[in-house]
Formats: sequence, C-alpha cells, structure tokens
Amino acid sequence: MTPAEDALARYDLAALDRRLRGTDGGEVDDSIPELAKADPSLFGVATVTSEGDIHSAGDSRVPFSLQSAVKPFVYALALMDRGDDVLEAVGTEPTGQAFDAIVFESETGRPPNAMVNAGALLTASLVNGSTADERFDRILSGLSQIAGRDLAVDADVAGSERLLGDRNRALGYLMRSAGTLHVEVDDAISVYARACSVLVDTEVLAMMGATLAFGGRNPATGVQALSRELVTETLSVMATCGMYDGSGRWLRRVGLPAKSGVSGGMVAAAPGRLGMGVYSPPLNEEGNSVRGVLASEQLSDELGLHVFG
Ligand code: GLU
Repeated sequence: MTPAEDALARYDLAALDRRLRGTDGGEVDDSIPELAKADPSLFGVATVTSEGDIHSAGDSRVPFSLQSAVKPFVYALALMDRGDDVLEAVGTEPTGQAFDAIVFESETGRPPNAMVNAGALLTASLVNGSTADERFDRILSGLSQIAGRDLAVDADVAGSERLLGDRNRALGYLMRSAGTLHVEVDDAISVYARACSVLVDTEVLAMMGATLAFGGRNPATGVQALSRELVTETLSVMATCGMYDGSGRWLRRVGLPAKSGVSGGMVAAAPGRLGMGVYSPPLNEEGNSVRGVLASEQLSDELGLHVFG
C-alpha cells in the first residue's frame, strides 16, 4: 500500500461526518417536487481506493437521484459513441452561470459545455440508439458498467421532471431552431430526465468517481468502462465547468474535477488517488451541497488531493 493509500485507509471519515453533520445552511431543491421531499439532515460521504475498497460514513447507503452528477458520464458515453461529432456539437467552455442558463455560443448556436442543461440535453441525444428508449437504455447500461452494478431509474423523479421541464424544453427548441439538436424535443427531454433520475447512493457515486480517477477502469470489477482518452476529456470539462458558477472557487479550494447535482449529490475524482462521493440535500446559492463542499474541502486538504497541490 502506498503512503497515500495508507493515509486514505486511516482517514477517519466518521469523524468528518460528526464534524459536518450538524452544519446548517442551504435549502433543499424544490425545482422537482420529488426532490423537495428529501430529509435535509441526511449526510453521507464515501471514498474508493485503487483496489476498489470503499470507505464511508454517515448516510452513505441512502439512495438519491443523480441529477446533474450524471452529466459527465453521459458526456463520456456520447464521446464513446460519436467521438468528434460531440466535440462539434457541444463546446468545452465554462459559462460562470447557473445549470439551466439559456446561453449558447453566438456564432454556432452550440451549448457552451456538456455540464449545463442545454449541453447535457444534447449529449443525451447523441448516444447510440434510434429511439429515446434505445438511447436511454444505452446510457443506463453504460452508467451501470461505470458503477460496477446494475442501476435503475426513480420513475417518480423522472415523471415529475418531464412534466415540469418547461425551461429544458425551451432549451431544446432553441437548439432545434439553431440546427444543433436533431431529435424531437420531447424525446431529448425523455432521455435526459430519466438519466438525471438514475438512483445511486454515496458509495456507488464514489465508485463512479473512482472509475474516472483510475483511467476508466472500475477498481472493483476491473472492467475498463471508459478509455483513458475519454476520461481525460471528461475530467477536463468537469474541472472547469462541473460546479457551475462556483467552479473557480471549487478548483481553488478543493482542486479536483467534480460534478454536483441538485439532489445534493456530488462526485469527484482525484486522478490516480481516489473516487469521492458526497450526499447532503441542502444546497448553497450556486446549487452545490453545503455539507458536500465542506467535506470535499476537508478531504482535499487533509489527504493532499489538490491536483495543483
Ligand atoms: N434534472 C435537473 C434539471 O434539469 C438537474 C439540475 C442539476 O442537478 O443541476 O434542472
């Protein structure tokens, strides 16, 4: 075991949980009714090593929907299926704006990156499959391979998101009018809403982060779920765009490629070191988990994970 792995094995996640569990502040997301039902006191944290060992504390087995934490993985799967077509269709530039910002590259009509809703709607429509169901099935099987277990959708979350997705539909119609989205808007929304509603827990999310951290190979199953090249593309966009308009502060304070979601989940990858998953529903003004950000900062500081550290 390397000194770094030894430090991780000895790290007291239970103490981190005790320190942060009572942290106040933030609001549970209510943009999707099902998410508003989440218990604001929940807090789970997990890390996964290069051997696939899971260290966890708190509510690390409580299920939640991925929401935008799914976006990097959908991006990687679209790149796997369509390669440069994806890089033509979606930019790789941060916006400094919120996840659902109506922002497109002026001259091309392209979404700025795959971490905002417009970009994710488009990448979800670019994976292999001639129907919405085929495209979603492809995404679900890819996510399951990355996670190293069979994943499933929370149909209630997906249903409430589809019904309420007016802003996402508007993004879809804008992309149709710009000629960047080539499937029906309702089909794009259907795939995207189901992808966002895939259920994980904190340990599963940490395992997905570990697959990114270890070059696309799931450290528990040994399956090469993504190529190293795809992982590099994905981590790069996570590093600059993953935490929305908090990405700059995040990269400075935590220094890891990460992606948050409005259910309160957050996945991070310390390349060559570990995968990390955190879950706590109350969100800050940037839509990132309050306790999740604090836990990530402390783990990064105490384990020396900062990529520029
Ligand atoms: N499904 C959510 C939406 O489209 C995801 C938002 C997020 O997690 O940032 O609004």
